[in-house]
Amino acid sequence: MLRMLKIFIRMLLILVAVVAASLYLLYFRRMPLPATAPHPRVVPVISTIPGVSACWVETGKTFSNFSFASTAGSILVRHPAGDLLIDTGNSSHFNEEVSGYPFLLRLKLKSLAGELNPPVPLPDLLRRIGEDPAKVRWAILSHVHLDHAGGLMDLPRMPVLLTREELEFANDPKVQAKGFTMADHVKAFPPVSAPTLKFDATPYETFDESADLYKDGSVVVVPLRGHTPGSVGIFVNLSPTRRLFYVGDAVDDERGFAERVAKSVILQDSDNDRALAEQVVGRISELHEKVPGLAIIPAHGRSAYMKFFPGGPLSCVSGQ
Ligand SMILES: [Zn+2]
Repeated sequence: MLRMLKIFIRMLLILVAVVAASLYLLYFRRMPLPATAPHPRVVPVISTIPGVSACWVETGKTFSNFSFASTAGSILVRHPAGDLLIDTGNSSHFNEEVSGYPFLLRLKLKSLAGELNPPVPLPDLLRRIGEDPAKVRWAILSHVHLDHAGGLMDLPRMPVLLTREELEFANDPKVQAKGFTMADHVKAFPPVSAPTLKFDATPYETFDESADLYKDGSVVVVPLRGHTPGSVGIFVNLSPTRRLFYVGDAVDDERGFAERVAKSVILQDSDNDRALAEQVVGRISELHEKVPGLAIIPAHGRSAYMKFFPGGPLSCVSGQ
């Protein structure tokens, strides 16, 4: 009897070790990346525009008590010329939306993006901070993956800023078949023939192209092609010293740019062009070294939001 117990305990320990090692290899191990060639920096002139603020609207989260916690949702930029939503998190109908996919794909989507489903839909959260969803002027998506675009399904229809290359990607049946984008979400986007976001050859920070959305330097978009062909990063400048750079899924979390490491194995498969995506990590890491005061916020990196929005979810920060 005692012998059986010993064997059982030994088997149990082996099982625990195997599970821990697999979790480490899949989720936590991150490979170091080479530095990118240094890029000249164009320092922007930033003024504090009265009435501009940014609010964190978290719609979903996992492991929120830990530093590696994941989050999803939206950043609302309030602007006198009309408010902007940056990303929208998952649709509140996520489970129904993925129900038509084959079993294994459905399992994968539910166990990754599906972990960030919104218990309360985005429009209700917007109302809690005094924002009328019907009055939002426009939305911009860091990229079209379902966990960034899905919230559009819950919102009134509004212009969605996307480049031609990202629209082509979103409409690609192969991309939709893999569950990266959803046919229903694409219906909320502009047609491929009429993209709503174009870059000028105006360098900004360490990027060669940019788009100044309000033409006042408050919100400036730059390309971060790699994770998807039309991924973008969004600078929100509240004051010369209070600035955020929302980088979508270019990095998993702050470790990505602070330590210049690749994505975890489990998330690498979401990069459309891995070589380009890893160059982007190098670019963001270089920017972080050159502009340490800039708050770089990865879409799912909860600890980065907590630093910029010390009041937590549903709090706002202004430049004044
Ligand atoms: Zn994502």
